[in-house]
Amino acid sequence: MAATPSVESAARGAKNPSALQFLKSGPKKLLIGGKWVPAKSGKTFETLNPANEEVLALVAEGDKADVDEAVRNARKAFEEGKWSTMGPHQRTRFLLKIADLIDQHADELAELETLDNGKSISESRNMDIPGAAETFRYYAGWATKIYGETNPSDPGMFSYTLREPIGVCGQIIPWNFPLMMASWKIAPALACGNVVILKPAEQTPLTALRLGELILEAGLPESVVQIITGFGPGAGSSIAEHPDIDKVAFTGSTEVGKLILKASAGNLKHVSLELGGKSPNIIFPDADVQAATFGSMLGIFMNQGQVCCAGSRVFVQESMYDQFTDSLSKMAQGLTVGNPLDPNTRMGPLVSKEQHDRVLGYLKAGKEEGANAKVGGAAGNQERGYFVQPTVFTGVKNSMKIAREEIFGPVASAIPFKDENDAVFQGNDTTYGLAAAVWTRDISRAHKVARALKAGTVWINTYGMVDPVASFGGYKQSGFGRELGKHSLELYTQIKQVYTKL
Ligand code: NAP
Ligand code: MG
Repeated sequence: MAATPSVESAARGAKNPSALQFLKSGPKKLLIGGKWVPAKSGKTFETLNPANEEVLALVAEGDKADVDEAVRNARKAFEEGKWSTMGPHQRTRFLLKIADLIDQHADELAELETLDNGKSISESRNMDIPGAAETFRYYAGWATKIYGETNPSDPGMFSYTLREPIGVCGQIIPWNFPLMMASWKIAPALACGNVVILKPAEQTPLTALRLGELILEAGLPESVVQIITGFGPGAGSSIAEHPDIDKVAFTGSTEVGKLILKASAGNLKHVSLELGGKSPNIIFPDADVQAATFGSMLGIFMNQGQVCCAGSRVFVQESMYDQFTDSLSKMAQGLTVGNPLDPNTRMGPLVSKEQHDRVLGYLKAGKEEGANAKVGGAAGNQERGYFVQPTVFTGVKNSMKIAREEIFGPVASAIPFKDENDAVFQGNDTTYGLAAAVWTRDISRAHKVARALKAGTVWINTYGMVDPVASFGGYKQSGFGRELGKHSLELYTQIKQVYTKL
């Protein structure tokens, strides 16, 4: 049995009384059947503050037995129709209530997110938490706008479609945007009338659990949202395999995405996968170079580079390569790395020791393959915590390991290109296709290149913009299915055709 964590020490620097109270209120439990319960096995695991490597909380380690019970509850809740047949206006009100509760607890949630994940408090406050609230608010609007169709038919027939919920949805999310990912999954599923079982990432379970409390406070019917913390093999795989789960939505690594797809074959679940990326960020000499430098910096160093759509391959036209990489490196060097609770900090630690080791392994591999770490290239010099220096590699070839594999850390690989064709060719020369960007003042080139890039999102003269109103998802091995916008409705509804003989 693990020792009781010292919240005062692990969460030092945190100020929000409710966040501290949440941490101090004992081991975190599973949300099953409208109640907080320990795992049936009685097991717990630790969630750490990656800035000081201390234990923030003990969390219930759910596994197959807990998933089984949650699925039974979910099935009952769905079939009874307390949520799926609730009037759409009422569903809207519930989702708006959740959005409001997130806003009301924004400061608390931001501190919990930063403590658990290591991201800077300015990012938690300005992006993650408001982004989660906006996602619930956006889908609240859709609950009243899900239409079927009336089909053309002979006078003796009446033919129409109903767009119905899929049923019990298992949702497995990563650690990089914990609350935001929870909202991308839960909000559209609920708007469409489904019930959900969410498995947060083991590294960052806290804000999802706090969201569970807020969802109870909002008064949703029992078992419409259940939350099972635990590990991938165990809680996650039991969801992916479960014969009575109708749909699984997954965000995470391509490797695990393939396992999810295989596991779903048992009962032919609906599957949507949002996986990794190695996104090309292409800078032409006719761009607003200052804006491109700043955008490229944000594109790779935001959230310590732990972003699936990070601009990790920075393609720069040869004539400006040295100058551009100089400026990008200077900007990287100027980033304040340190205590993520400090509002002036721009980069906190990586999420875990595992991720830290992984990223350091890539830094080593880059140097071994002959790339030059123009800035960074090593762990941070902080005494504790999983810090990595913002790194810009120059002299990178698109064939190198650091240009092919998702590093998921603050590491830019700058690659030169000759001309437009070469930029597009190299940009598309990857197994991934999540996102891409192009920087140019030539409007024709911008749109030509946007069309030619094989990616689910393309940014022109900006990087990283994501809005609940617009779709998000991948080409190639970055996954399939589109989340956000009206496209998420496709993921969480199915169509029923009705023929009537008049
Ligand atoms: P991961 O293993 O793909 O984790 C994502 C989620 O899947 C977590 O909730 C995880 O649970 C769960 N999971 C793991 N194995 C599973 C299984 N066999 N069946 C069902 N669910 C399972 O990602 P990671 O290990 O945290 O990170 C590894 C790499 O993945 C990163 O370095 C990065 O390259 C990539 N990644 C991509 C994204 C993205 O948004 N595209 C996000 C995160 C990571 P546990 O947390 O308990 O393992
Ligand atoms: Mg943690």
